This record gives sequence, C-alpha cells and structure tokens, in this order.
Amino acid sequence: MLTRMQLVLDSIKFMINSLVRSNLRNFKPYSSARSLYQKGVFMDANENSLGSVISSEYSSELNRYPDPLSMALRRALGEFLTVSEKNIFVGSGSDEIIDLLIRLFVEQDEEIIVEEPSYGMYKVAAEVAGVKVKSVLLKEDFQIDISNLLSQITSKTKIIFLCSPNSPTGALISFEEVENICKKFNGVVVVDEAYIEFTSKPSLVNQISSLENLIILRTFSKAWGLAGIRVGYAVAQETIVDYLNKIKLPYNLNRISSKLAIEALGEYQKMLEFREIILTEREKLVNNLANLGFKVFSSEANFLLINYPNASGVAKKLALEYGIIIRDFGSKPMLKDCVRISVGSPEQNDLLIKSLKKIL
Ligand code: PMP
Repeated sequence: MLTRMQLVLDSIKFMINSLVRSNLRNFKPYSSARSLYQKGVFMDANENSLGSVISSEYSSELNRYPDPLSMALRRALGEFLTVSEKNIFVGSGSDEIIDLLIRLFVEQDEEIIVEEPSYGMYKVAAEVAGVKVKSVLLKEDFQIDISNLLSQITSKTKIIFLCSPNSPTGALISFEEVENICKKFNGVVVVDEAYIEFTSKPSLVNQISSLENLIILRTFSKAWGLAGIRVGYAVAQETIVDYLNKIKLPYNLNRISSKLAIEALGEYQKMLEFREIILTEREKLVNNLANLGFKVFSSEANFLLINYPNASGVAKKLALEYGIIIRDFGSKPMLKDCVRISVGSPEQNDLLIKSLKKIL
C-alpha cells in the first residue's frame, strides 16, 4: 500500500515531469563506468594511470576524473543546511545552474519572467537558449511589484527568476512575497540567494518542503570568499535535482573545487567574521558616500547602489585616474546615473572615498 508520503512525492514528480521540456522526459543521459563503480583499478576512462605531470598537494588525485554526482560535497552541504543531499544539486557556480534550469524547463516558444533591474545572467542564458524573456519593472522603491508580475504570467511562462537580495539594488524579497508567487504560479520560481549571508533574514532553503515549485540558488562566490573555485548549488525537489544531474556535463565540478568547498563549510565562523567586517564597512561607506552628496540606496548585500548626476563620468574617472573599478548601471532601466560599488577592504574603501573627494 502506498504511504501518504509516497503519494505526495509521486504527485510532486508528476507536476515536475509535466513542466520539464518534453524531449527530456525520457532522455538517456551520458553514462560513465565511474558512476557504476567508484572503487577498483580504473581502466575505464582513458585517464593517465601513471599520474599527473605536475606536483602539488593534490597530485595523487589530479589524474582521475571527479565523482560525476559530487556526492561528498552534496552530503556536506546537506548537513550544513539540514536538507537531504537528494535535494541538492552542485554546479560550477550558480551561473551554470541558471543556464541548466532554463534548458531543463523552457521550450523554444516558451518564456521566463525576470525582474528589471536584476542580475543580468537570467536574461543572457535565456537568450542564448533561444527562449523569450519578459521583464517586469520593480516599483520605484525597488520592491517587487507582485500584482504586475502575476499579471504577466501566461500559459507559456515556465520560470520566474527572483533575486533576494537583488543585484544591483540590494533589496530583499520577503518570504510572504515568495510564498504568494509560488502559490499563484504553476511553473517554477527560482530565488537566487547569492547574497543571503549578508542579510539578517534566514535563507529559504528549508521552504522547499512546503513550496514544491521553489528552487533556491546559493553560491560560495560571495560571503565565503571563493569566487575563484566556481561552486554554486541549488536546493530543489529531488525530481528536479535528478533531472539536472542527467542534463549537466558529465564532470561539471572539479575535484579541487569540491574539496575546497567542503573545507569552507568547516570555516563557518570565519565567514561570519568576514561578514561582520563587510557590514561595518558597508555602513561606513553609506555615511561617507552620503556626506559626499551621493544618493545611497539601502542594501542588504555586500554592495551599494548609488545615484549621482553623471555617475558614469565619475566611474570612468575613478578607473582611468585612480585605478578603482566600480560598475556603471546607468544604461539599465530605472538606473539612470546609478553605479554599484562592492564593499571593499577597509583600505580599499578609504582609498575610494579619498579618490571620490578629489574627483568631486
Ligand atoms: N546570482 C547573482 C545575483 C550574482 O550576483 C552572481 C554573481 N555575479 C551570481 C548569481 C553567479 O554566481 P556564481 O559565482 O556562483 O556563478
């Protein structure tokens, strides 16, 4: 007899199967002998069994392909997040996962909805995949315009991308807003939490058990200080994770990155220490920039969006005369004369303010 739990899981599976691209429902993925046998004398994958040509602390394992399913990292993340490893997919940065999600769910004549302004890769990945993008403007205060967003949904809408805190505005989306959108939309809602560690609000990773169409994206690139190793992850229904594992490239996450990401999870306190410094520096920057006459938008992340007449000219001068690179968003909707500044080290922030004083 089927248990209630099994019935719920089956109905989620049915819902997700109906959402994925039709040609992927019975898709046969690439399979390697290594996914069947993880131990033994490896003569299956045409690696160099003599070793690698370089010597480093990782030498003994560099000549072997990594685990295709990155189980060790998924287990470590599962423990860290108190989520089953079956609900975690790891990718080469969350950018890879954004790309995979679009290719998993959206057919050529279907569309995604993105907020505007928001992180640019949702749109870019959709355009590369040849699917349509509908942009919904944020409200004047950069909060999400839920009624407008919901009114844009059609039978062709497969994914809504939300970003919380949003880049480049820094605004957070509340759980109630996410819940409302998930409940009113029959497709998939992706909440990108790349900057969540900088906020005082909890991540929504544990909400996937009640919101079945919710997918959370997280990354090691921001608060954890590991942008160079390219590790991001999604927390989602097991069926979605299984599909992502089928469509990804065979060895999408390399051995060294997996190892370092696991090591990082053991350094949670260090991450919190960095966070404290960054939040203190962010407040200092807010005050200093406001004193210089910039309009500074309130931010929950490790960057500030600021507005100033001819901010683009100021950004150019900062780069060319002082070697300080900030990001000009002036050509984006709602962001005329806006630039985004990442909170730097105390020395970098002092240098920025000193340089701005000279320019102004
Ligand atoms: N989402 C947001 C909102 C980002 O700002 C970034 C980094 N630019 C990413 C995702 C991509 O992060 P990753 O380094 O994990 O690919």
